[in-house]
Amino acid sequence: MSISENLQSIESKIVAACQRSGRERDEVQLIAVSKTKPLDLIQDAVSAGQLHFGENRVQELVDKQPQLGDEAQWHLIGHLQKNKIRKALPLTDLLHTLDSIELARQVSRIAGEEGITCRALVQVNISEDEAKYGFSAEAAQAALDELLELPHIEIRGLMTIPKFDPDPEATRIHFAALRELRDSLGVDQLAELSMGMSHDFGVAIEEGATLVRVGSAIFGARG
Ligand SMILES: *Cc1c(COP(=O)(O)O)cnc(C)c1O
Repeated sequence: MSISENLQSIESKIVAACQRSGRERDEVQLIAVSKTKPLDLIQDAVSAGQLHFGENRVQELVDKQPQLGDEAQWHLIGHLQKNKIRKALPLTDLLHTLDSIELARQVSRIAGEEGITCRALVQVNISEDEAKYGFSAEAAQAALDELLELPHIEIRGLMTIPKFDPDPEATRIHFAALRELRDSLGVDQLAELSMGMSHDFGVAIEEGATLVRVGSAIFGARG
């Protein structure tokens, strides 16, 4: 299958999930996760109309972002180390992985020094997976006032990577929990919910995802 055929097949699954849950297609943005994949495959995706890309390593973002032109939008979806903030910020349209208050403070300070505002999502470890970064639901709630007041960060919503389960239905409760947490926080600007990957984005959309992060279903398995 070509990249463009894969994108078409994902598009029809997104449309179907929106229909099942009474949502509009334009409430959901597909992020093509291009980590480890070469530029020519990313260019195939651009040719097929895909504009949002996700990377999890700053160095790959540094290598790829300048080569793709201004129309592409880049999402940083991996843990951001503090010593890479300055490099990452100017290349990142949306940072999905604000996973601690210390990181948030430093991102805001450095964004201020660089004269930019960082759009970001708060990463919540909603399934309480010890192997994952992120705020617990309680810690996110407790940190929210400070996060919202940081001058050079604009918080747009929440992101989660639930514990992996091959059965997407098993992950539904975690997607629902992220949406319920967002709703309970009662802050209008938290519109975005980044959740769902290749094997479970349909369920994530049914539970309210606005950004789905899909890699292998577009670009093939990673080596
Ligand atoms: C790699 C990755 C994805 C995409 O995973 P696939 O299963 O290939 O779709 C999504 N989100 C994050 C945070 C990732 O690191």
